[in-house]
Amino acid sequence: MSAVSSPAAYLDATDPLAPFRQEFHIPAGPDGRPCVYFCGNSLGLQPKAARAAVEQEFEAWERLGVEGHFHGTSPWMHYHETLTEASARLVGALPVEVVVMNSLTVNLHLLLVSFYRPTGSRYKILMEGGAFPSDQYAIESQARLHDLDPAEVIVELVPRPGEHTLRTEDITAKIQELGDSLATILIGGVNYYTGQAFDMATITRAGHTVGAYVGFDLAHAAGNLEMHLHDWDVDFACWCSYKYLNSGPGGTSGVFVHEQFANRPDLVRLAGWWGHDPSDRFQMKKGFRPMAGAAGWQLSNAQIFPMAIHRASLDIVDRAGGMAALRRKSERLTEQLETLIRELALPSAQLEIITPADPAQRGCQLSVLVHQRGRELFDFLASQGIIADWREPNVIRLAPVPLYNSFEDVHRVGKALARFFK
Ligand SMILES: *Cc1c(COP(=O)(O)O)cnc(C)c1O
Repeated sequence: MSAVSSPAAYLDATDPLAPFRQEFHIPAGPDGRPCVYFCGNSLGLQPKAARAAVEQEFEAWERLGVEGHFHGTSPWMHYHETLTEASARLVGALPVEVVVMNSLTVNLHLLLVSFYRPTGSRYKILMEGGAFPSDQYAIESQARLHDLDPAEVIVELVPRPGEHTLRTEDITAKIQELGDSLATILIGGVNYYTGQAFDMATITRAGHTVGAYVGFDLAHAAGNLEMHLHDWDVDFACWCSYKYLNSGPGGTSGVFVHEQFANRPDLVRLAGWWGHDPSDRFQMKKGFRPMAGAAGWQLSNAQIFPMAIHRASLDIVDRAGGMAALRRKSERLTEQLETLIRELALPSAQLEIITPADPAQRGCQLSVLVHQRGRELFDFLASQGIIADWREPNVIRLAPVPLYNSFEDVHRVGKALARFFK
């Protein structure tokens, strides 16, 4: 039996996911030891399997040229299809409801083209105030695409005075208030800044009650939360793969379109040949006929190299036992981190955790609002080999992720914080 020297070491020794840490490259800190990487919410670490996965496609291209579309270990013609089942498991969807393609903001636009169809009386979009800028710009420009004024179209949800996060009852009340004027709801599954996870099932139900489409940007939710998009009746969603899904900078993106739209060729969309019915795709004829399901939103033939990395990453999630297993560990890691921060007993005028304390309302990330010496704290953490993330004006985001972070990592952060504030 190995000697276990501390409570954190004990938790790591009994953690069923601990072996997965070995499957990632962990960058070194200033002292040469592996850093504490709490930045998986921004860019996940590189799976060791990623290089071989890409290498395999280089090799196929080298050996087969154009024939790689039809031959080799994983013919490119059908490559994207090999990501479908794992992506469906990831977000709680049916395979027909998901497709992997493009990148996140591009997919947001493609989905809004179909699911934001303003009329004279129903034209508003509800979103969270302070959403990620790309989402704000996407929605503004979608309003302009319909010759509407973004200021009249966009309704932003903001926390009550003195609060940092949104209350579900305030979200549903706003939906009721907007009623027939509400065309579309688009909210992050998890807000990138506060780390708040929204009650997607309740928001979807409320949106449908007033006849609006409901979609989610899952950039900070995919690979972080357990989701049931199909059962929740969500209309559409998309996510990136390079944050909690470790699929490399600028990696590919996932899309969800609910089964109820699977056979709706009448839905307005931007079309391309890869979304066309494959039975006569290569007859190169006029007249777009979309494939059933989310696949019918594809434009271009698959980006094999980013998809190869994504496939290797999704495989790790599956081997780890899927989102249920990841989430079990994730809740414990975050709870430990929260406890260590609370034990500092700092006045809220100095430091506050703005992420909800309720585990059901957050993913792994804790956002710490540092009212004094914030930048100094961030730099101190960096000097200790702790990679966190700084958001202006004074928030430090700490994201312990279950696949490669350890309880020892959390302990190191707790010790560094205690040293800084002693
Ligand atoms: C990370 C993130 C993006 C980034 O969009 P890309 O198109 O992948 O550059 C967009 N929206 C949200 C909410 C994000 O968190």
